[in-house]
Amino acid sequence: MRWPHYEHVFFDCDSTLTAVEGIDVLAASTGKQAEIERLTNLAMDGQLDLEDIYARRLQAINPTRAQIREIRRVYKRNTVDDAAEVIAALHAMGHKVYIISGGLAEPVEEFGVYLGVPRQRIRAVGVQYNKLSGNWWQNRNPGERYLTYDAGALTVSDGKARIVREFLRTQSGRSLLIGDGMSDLLAGTAVDLFIGYGGVVTRQPVLAQAPAFIHSRSLAPLLPLAAGPAALKRFDNQNLAPKAVNLIRKGALTFQNEQLEQKFRKACETIYPRPDRGAARHSGSPNQADVRPPDARMY
Ligand SMILES: [Mg+2]
Repeated sequence: MRWPHYEHVFFDCDSTLTAVEGIDVLAASTGKQAEIERLTNLAMDGQLDLEDIYARRLQAINPTRAQIREIRRVYKRNTVDDAAEVIAALHAMGHKVYIISGGLAEPVEEFGVYLGVPRQRIRAVGVQYNKLSGNWWQNRNPGERYLTYDAGALTVSDGKARIVREFLRTQSGRSLLIGDGMSDLLAGTAVDLFIGYGGVVTRQPVLAQAPAFIHSRSLAPLLPLAAGPAALKRFDNQNLAPKAVNLIRKGALTFQNEQLEQKFRKACETIYPRPDRGAARHSGSPNQADVRPPDARMY
């Protein structure tokens, strides 16, 4: 059975392409960590609307421009395994890659470009600074303090769908979105396939509702989902395909949608026939440490 080609691939940023949350990085430099982390988790788990906490978090931190710019370094240091390689492979196979993030625009854009995503396909939240703070009389003023953010679709819980639809309005081709949070799950309505990501943190409501869910620290299992196993096998020149297939066999990919699972499993096994199952059973699972599925179905 043929698995479709998802031409447009939308990524979340925080806890999907990088293992940190930008807002927590900011909080760490101001001693507000515990409070900010609590608010973030409530929002990500869907218990608090994003719009209610967005302003509160930034006001509590009151960061300078220099502190906001610093997030980009922490993003890069904590890049999720194979993120840049997966993005390069997607581009090479003819996909268009986007980042839609509720994080702050300056660091998200720089991190996205660093990963190989064109700047015009990155959307995040712009920030305005108080021009009269810091050393306002100097040309460069990294001490400028946060004044307000550009309120828009990305600061409300269901806003990502709107941005995705704007991107797709004049385009043809199938689309998928991958992310860890509730705002990503909600944006799933705007694409053909939503994939939950739990390689950094597993959000239970997302795991429970996502049609497909990736559990591994590596993003490699996204490739056969986005391109189809056949296209991936034709393309692969970086060993990403065997890595993806191995991870998937060890349980890195689970499904809530049974029809989807059957279709994917058939497509996968046609292209990558399973090695002798008996031998695999006796040799045990060589490396479970890089996969952490709660209750994964193996194949
Ligand atoms: Mg996220």
